[in-house]
Amino acid sequence: MNKLQAMKTGKILISACLIGQKVRYDGRCNRIRRDIIAKWQQSGLLVPICPEVTGGLPTPRNPAELQPGKTASDILSGKGRILDNTGTDVTDQFVIGAKITLDLAIANNCRYGLMKEASPSCGCNYIHSGKFDGQTKIGKGITAALLQQNGIEIFSETGIEKLVKAISDSKINRLKTQTAT
Ligand code: SF4
Repeated sequence: MNKLQAMKTGKILISACLIGQKVRYDGRCNRIRRDIIAKWQQSGLLVPICPEVTGGLPTPRNPAELQPGKTASDILSGKGRILDNTGTDVTDQFVIGAKITLDLAIANNCRYGLMKEASPSCGCNYIHSGKFDGQTKIGKGITAALLQQNGIEIFSETGIEKLVKAISDSKINRLKTQTAT
C-alpha cells in the first residue's frame, strides 16, 4: 500500500497561522474568521502545523524566499536554496519542516491541506519573487509541493469553497462505492 492509498479520511492539514497561532515570521497570524473553519475545528477535522517553526526556526524570524529562478522541486532535490533577507541560508530548516509536516499528514490520514498562499513553505499557487521586493509569482512553497507530490490535495485560504466541494464530492463518491458493493 502506498502513502496515497493509506489516506482514507477527510482530515485537513492546516497552516497553523490560519487558525490564529502567532507563528508568522513577524509574530502575527493570518486567522480566517469563517464559520466552516470553526465547524471543522470543533469536529476535530483540522491538523494544524507551522512547517517553519517545526523545522527549528524562531518566531519572530527574518522573512525568507526561494532563490530567484528556483522552484520548490529544485529546493527539495538540493538544486536550490532558501535564503532570508540577510542572506542567511535557511534551506535545511525549511526542508526538515516540510518532511515533518508530511509525516504528520500521513500519521493523521490527512487527505487535504488548507495552506497560506504566497508563503515559501505553504503557498500552493503563488510565492514571493525571491528578491524581497514585495512581488509574487506563480509557484509553490516547499511544504505544499512535498504534500502534493505525496497525493495530498492542497487548497489556499482563497479557495475554501473548492475544498468544501472536494470534501462533499469525496463523501458522495464514498457513498456510491459503498452502495455498489
Ligand atoms: S510557514 Fe506556513 S504555517 Fe507557518 S507562518 Fe508561514 S504560512 Fe503560516
